[in-house]
Amino acid sequence: MEEEAKNLIDIDEISLNGKSSRFPGFYKHDLSIRLDLLEQWYPLTTNEKWMLKRETLTPELADVMVENAIGVFGLPLGVAVNIQLNERDYIVPMVVEESSVIAALSNSARLIRDHGTLTSEATDPIMFSQVQLVEVKNPEHAKKTILKKKKDLLRVANQQDPVLAKLGGGARDIEVRIIDSLSGPMVIVHIIVDCRDAMGANAVNTMAETLAPILAELAEGEAICKIVSNLSDRRLVRVRMEMEVDCLARAGFTGEQAADRIIKAYHFAEADPYRAATHNKGVMNGIDPILIATGNDWRACEAGVHAFAARTGKYKPVSHFSRDKSGKLIGEMEIPMALGIVGGVTSIHPGVKILLKLMKVKTSKELAEVAAAAGLLQNFTAVWTLATEGIQKGHMTLHARNVAVFAGAIGEMAIKVANQMAHEGRVRYDRAKQILKHLLVRETQDQEDQNQ
Ligand code: NAD
Repeated sequence: MEEEAKNLIDIDEISLNGKSSRFPGFYKHDLSIRLDLLEQWYPLTTNEKWMLKRETLTPELADVMVENAIGVFGLPLGVAVNIQLNERDYIVPMVVEESSVIAALSNSARLIRDHGTLTSEATDPIMFSQVQLVEVKNPEHAKKTILKKKKDLLRVANQQDPVLAKLGGGARDIEVRIIDSLSGPMVIVHIIVDCRDAMGANAVNTMAETLAPILAELAEGEAICKIVSNLSDRRLVRVRMEMEVDCLARAGFTGEQAADRIIKAYHFAEADPYRAATHNKGVMNGIDPILIATGNDWRACEAGVHAFAARTGKYKPVSHFSRDKSGKLIGEMEIPMALGIVGGVTSIHPGVKILLKLMKVKTSKELAEVAAAAGLLQNFTAVWTLATEGIQKGHMTLHARNVAVFAGAIGEMAIKVANQMAHEGRVRYDRAKQILKHLLVRETQDQEDQNQ
């Protein structure tokens, strides 16, 4: 089995980080072969392979992680292959229930690998927490007083996290805003912190809670909320894809036509928040599964991306498509990405630990670059499909097995029912029931014939 796996790797396809993530026909193999194939990318132990296949989190550990635990909940774990970003190869683990997500990412990664380039760059891992000060008699005076004490405040903040400071991170700056609110003016203090390889919410929250009474005294007011902002707009990732358009030909459209339709589809999202929401959902389809697989806080990331999408006062698509002078299709995106490779559950969840090793990311910045690039690729595939053959054909073909199982088919029978529906182009619950009934009758007859 392992010999078979080795033979399936194209050894010519090796990038800057030494190995190729190009696995032709990966989806065609059975699950165990895929795990064997991954050994060519990263040397998984037998135990690690067993854990990925069967159990990445024990009920005992789940009981430590949350209150009132009653068990461990499963979701499919897959890997997107073929990804080449910043001239490095990546295998990307994804935990997701939607059938088409991993296939879409692997396919678009293969396409751009052969016909374009994909780059991304993250800023420094800067987060900030907010301290809300109310009942401040003279907000302008309070602002000046707080800023005068900046150095002392930063020192106290950094005393809360010597590890972060030692690693070259820690509190960097204090900013003060005066905002109008339904309860009148408020003084809002931002504590700006370099969180290195942590997501940093706990780190910045601790600093905010420590500084809050000091700030309240300086402002002669009262502190209420002391909490991280999930609109982490100092921790951004910029992604760019460039692609020759000939390879976009599909469903009777030439590559040129497909590219122009992609741009018009993007213009729809630019003009209409109803479409922009679904456009951005397509981006998050590529990101959330990676965040779950790597133990990151996907709610925090979702909140950040959507707030960023609305930062001009109108909800907008976070990615943009255009064509450059040479006719190439250009996709660009800038989003906040507050991710960690240490802290939170990243360092305790056994599955996350294996999957982070498998990804071979060395810093939180690198993880953010990969996740954001996956988001842009996923979004590009969805818009390309929408703009050409429509989303349902491919999606429903992949979803057919779920529909077959929903209709009562199991094992081999589910595959037969799904294949028949995909062949007919009719992936529907009622049709699955009919096919299943027909196949079961035929199977019973065959059995009777054999018994006679
Ligand atoms: P954490 O407190 O578990 O770990 C971070 C700490 O790890 C740092 O403060 C530092 O002391 C230490 N550390 C060791 N090596 C490090 C390195 N190389 N780089 C940086 N730090 C290093 O976790 P966190 O990242 O502060 O917080 C993340 C958790 O907070 C997530 O689980 C998230 O769900 C949760 N959370 C989120 C929110 C929110 O987003 N609104 C609010 C509260 C809590």
